[in-house]
Amino acid sequence: MSGWTAREVGIFALVIIFSIILMFEGDYSNGIFGILFMLGFWVFKTVVIRRQKNKRDTEINRITRQTLRSGYSEPGPKLPEIKECPFCAEIIKAKAIVCRYCGRELPVEEGSSSTPK
Ligand SMILES: [Zn+2]
Repeated sequence: MSGWTAREVGIFALVIIFSIILMFEGDYSNGIFGILFMLGFWVFKTVVIRRQKNKRDTEINRITRQTLRSGYSEPGPKLPEIKECPFCAEIIKAKAIVCRYCGRELPVEEGSSSTPK
């Protein structure tokens, strides 16, 4: 049910229930009409959503391919190595000695994260 808002699902369920009630009341033609209408609407919506999604996907693919073909012309800054401050949990540079957020001295990482007693 992706792409369905809660309201749409609610309306869909209400119309189905209404149609079933109509059928139980003896008015079969109206009930069947209601169900057929909602089924048609559902199929239509599903097809439209899928088509839009496909369109978007192909657009993303095209942009990605163009970027690949251009050979990463954009230099872009290399992502800095980061780590989490053990005291204030802020993201800081891996090479930092003192946390820029809480100002505490950071333990030097040597592979193990065991805390000294
Ligand atoms: Zn900190």
